[in-house]
Amino acid sequence: MISPLDPSNLRKRIVELDDRRRDLLAQLLRPSPMVIGYLYKMRRRCGSPRCKCSRGELHSSWYLSRRQEGRTKLTYVGRVVPQWLGERVGRYRQYQKRLAAMRKMDAEISRLLNQLRDEKVQTLEQATKRR
Ligand SMILES: [Zn+2]
Repeated sequence: MISPLDPSNLRKRIVELDDRRRDLLAQLLRPSPMVIGYLYKMRRRCGSPRCKCSRGELHSSWYLSRRQEGRTKLTYVGRVVPQWLGERVGRYRQYQKRLAAMRKMDAEISRLLNQLRDEKVQTLEQATKRR
């Protein structure tokens, strides 16, 4: 039976991860313009009793939310999100996701390399006893 810790399995898994990592890196290397933050749609009532919002059709507007000096900063965008802004915020979000995926792969590659090392590593005492 082949163990998942089998060195050839480990090597295969590491090489696969490294291939996927390289593809990811290629996507990350030349980023297009991005805008930092996340878009939020807020719905509210204006308070006028004769307005449609008093019957449940709330006013909606978009805000951009981002962390700044440890606090969340909300910036008013408008009733609609301009296309360029939507694209740039989307790219930022995608970039962040890819970075997170890359960190995960790095950690996994590192973990597998540790396993590979541990298959071969000995203390001096073990090495001299078994030779
Ligand atoms: Zn209203």
